[in-house]
Amino acid sequence: MNDALAERLERLKPRNAATALDWLGRLLMDNREMSAWEHDTCTLPRGARRWRRRALAFAREHIRPLAPEVDLHPDDFDPRPLLSKAARGGFQTLIFISPIGRASIATYLQGVGLQVAVVAEEFATECGGLALRLMAHNLGIAPLILSGNFHTILRHFVPYYLKSTFLGSPEVMAYAITEPGAGSDLAGLATRAERDGDEWIVNGQKVWTSDLMLWIVS
Ligand SMILES: Cc1cc2nc3c(=O)[nH]c(=O)nc-3n(C[C@H](O)[C@H](O)[C@H](O)COP(=O)(O)OP(=O)(O)OC[C@H]3O[C@@H](n4cnc5c(N)ncnc54)[C@H](O)[C@@H]3O)c2cc1C
Repeated sequence: MNDALAERLERLKPRNAATALDWLGRLLMDNREMSAWEHDTCTLPRGARRWRRRALAFAREHIRPLAPEVDLHPDDFDPRPLLSKAARGGFQTLIFISPIGRASIATYLQGVGLQVAVVAEEFATECGGLALRLMAHNLGIAPLILSGNFHTILRHFVPYYLKSTFLGSPEVMAYAITEPGAGSDLAGLATRAERDGDEWIVNGQKVWTSDLMLWIVS
């Protein structure tokens, strides 16, 4: 490319072209140089913006190299190292409110779902299956939050937050509703929990539970 052409192209860049506009034109025109992804990210609330950038970096560094291998040998895959890295990165406690989680009060007021959704989007960009493996945990947490029971929330979230954030524990929470005879049709649930002294006896069969460990909350 000759010098004259290079100079002309430089002048045509939105940032430089905008200098020819008057003050109102400059005010109305967004001439920052950034990708469509970055532009989109800038429109998000602060918490979602921060977590989207972190999720992109995490997905490129930790999910991208695993994806082909998991595809080829799904049965040999041990998800614990990945879950552990996600835990240390704060992704497993993203939906909990501070100080027992990584969501700020402002994020909660704006709707924490958006923050979780942008993380899911970035993870799934690299691998849909591994994204589900990491994000299904939030489905397991949701009933605890929705229970609105302060005692239950503290009893389960505080130890989980400490183990996850500081020890990188690969533990996850799960939601086990689906049964061989009950999918969308939850009225068909056959599993029964009966109290036996200080314990519960749970009889029934569950399928499709997406996680390693099941916490039954009494
Ligand atoms: C990857 C994956 C992960 C999962 N993880 C979990 C998990 O962690 N925990 C958990 O509990 N479950 C989990 N599930 C199960 C999932 O939630 C169920 O698959 C879901 O509830 C649907 O049930 P089903 O597959 O039996 O489909 P069905 O309920 O048999 O539905 C099949 C189709 O029939 C339609 N249908 C159903 N009932 C009616 C009706 N009355 N009228 C008209 N149409 C109807 C449905 O819309 C659907 O299109 C997981 C599933 C998948 C694929």
